[in-house]
Amino acid sequence: MRLSKMHLKTLREVPNEAEIPSHILLLRTGMIRKLVSGVYGFMPLGWRSIRKIEDIIRQEMDRSGGQEIHMSAVQPAELWEESGRWSVYGPELWRLKDRHGREFCLGPTHEEIFTDIVRSDISSYRQLPMNLYQIQTKYRDEARPRFGLMRSREFIMKDAYSFDLDQEGLDKSYEDMYAAYDRIFTRCGLTFRPVEADSGAIGGSNSHEFTALSEVGESEIAYCEACDMAATVERAACVDAAASSEPELPMEEVHTPGTKTIEEVAGFLGLSQEQTMKALLFVTYDDEGKENGYVAAFVRGDRELNMTKLVNALDIPEHSIEFADEEKMGAVTGCVGGFTGPVGLHDCRIVVDSELPGLKNLCAGACKVDHHLKNVNYGRDYKGDIVTDIKVLKEGDPCPVCGAPVKHARGIEVGQVFKLGTKYSQSMGAVYKDENQKDQLIVMGCYGIGVTRTLAAVVEQHHDENGIIWPMAIAPYHAIITVMKPDDETQIQVAEQIYQELGGAGVEVLLDDRKERPGVKFKDADLLGIPVRITVGRGAAQGLVEYKLRRDAEKEEVSVEEGIARAIEIVNKEK
Ligand code: ATP
Ligand code: MG
Repeated sequence: MRLSKMHLKTLREVPNEAEIPSHILLLRTGMIRKLVSGVYGFMPLGWRSIRKIEDIIRQEMDRSGGQEIHMSAVQPAELWEESGRWSVYGPELWRLKDRHGREFCLGPTHEEIFTDIVRSDISSYRQLPMNLYQIQTKYRDEARPRFGLMRSREFIMKDAYSFDLDQEGLDKSYEDMYAAYDRIFTRCGLTFRPVEADSGAIGGSNSHEFTALSEVGESEIAYCEACDMAATVERAACVDAAASSEPELPMEEVHTPGTKTIEEVAGFLGLSQEQTMKALLFVTYDDEGKENGYVAAFVRGDRELNMTKLVNALDIPEHSIEFADEEKMGAVTGCVGGFTGPVGLHDCRIVVDSELPGLKNLCAGACKVDHHLKNVNYGRDYKGDIVTDIKVLKEGDPCPVCGAPVKHARGIEVGQVFKLGTKYSQSMGAVYKDENQKDQLIVMGCYGIGVTRTLAAVVEQHHDENGIIWPMAIAPYHAIITVMKPDDETQIQVAEQIYQELGGAGVEVLLDDRKERPGVKFKDADLLGIPVRITVGRGAAQGLVEYKLRRDAEKEEVSVEEGIARAIEIVNKEK
């Protein structure tokens, strides 16, 4: 492709709305183009890289026995009602009506559609196992679309669904997908870590997220260097503090004026934060969005509440719980902002972190302004409706597997694999007949990759202050030939020769034949991040060119033939 003919609009300035490198660079290179918040289009270079990621995914999915299909983004509400998700999915679901008032949504994911296919097409055990996948546009009306392709409202996803006879079959399908994901993200040039992930109501070790390590990532992961424990912080189990054998002291009310925070009350009473208890107050909503109750959650004073664990413990959707208005909640339950403890609370669900029952003589709010209770003990003074692990595993806490101190890192969730089991086959009636002609539920798994988010993650990991540094496999073009003086006959001739020879050898090559100053061309080549650059300048008359890799600082003067040979070699090795 000749740059003089290509639709390319790079930006010198950093666009206002962009905060992170991938968003800035994808806009500055003109690879993506914003339409409205969270909705982007792809220009020639951007679309080439997207297609390369898709091709890698296709190759690895096909290699693992996947069969590609393509379903519509428009999905009828009835299927979602059957699975029960029409009411629980919440405001992220992009709902619409046709002219007859019939309800639809734009698919945020396709479990219902794929389950519907197999329930009508599969009848015998002989037809299973099966893995169907698609690479298709998804819609999620995200509360906070941001960071460009990272969290958008329209994005491309590869979603695959496996259908097996039994759990054993699912375990195998899951392993195959896990291995395919490893290969896909490796080929895309990402540094990543598969981590155990929350699987909501389904529970168990049923899900992994593939996380590209990055400071700007929205996922926080906990991992252990002494063993191979790695999990999202939402998911990571915590080790409870050892139970205390102290004798239980009589409970005592103390005056603690103005001490609304744990720090303040611990300081005021001369206690460590570990000797206190923290209350977090919530209101919950039903499917119609009406308030339907209050929740008080308690953790040790120095701990943080883990919202995902709390939501799982309550078995409610994430969007149906919010921090409560303390005054309103107080009128019903007796809680008092800043002074809430479990003693004396009523008419709300009390969720107690699993380590609290073992701890003795804690200090808690007295449900009375400016007062706390000392020596509060589980069983004697208060009880929980639910007692379970609802705390965050912090950096330095003991690893839940081996006890060594855990580390934290940030990352971008680029993919997730999930053992669904019979959740959808049960609710939607997807069965096969076994050898005895008896109906059995199909056992399912689902596997997603954010194609557009992967592109952003690659840029996040591969850039410098001058621009993108594409890994060969997903670079929009492999090589760029920069002609210093396009009106110099010799230079143009040599450049054309290289262009033809590289193209003939299967190298995807750009020829920068624009009538621009060399400085502008070098800047653009660095910004665009094309892996190999061959510069044709004054040396052309002696058959010499300059050869440089975007990722290296050095450039070398080589013969035209050597430049061509080197480019072909590295492209074939790395593409
Ligand atoms: P997140 O926790 O980041 O919202 P998710 O867990 O809801 O993502 P999945 O339902 O697992 O996402 O979707 C599969 C993949 O689709 C994710 O691993 C991610 O790569 C991608 N993805 C999800 N939401 C978005 C989005 N808003 N924009 C871009 N990619 C997304
Ligand atoms: Mg996910």
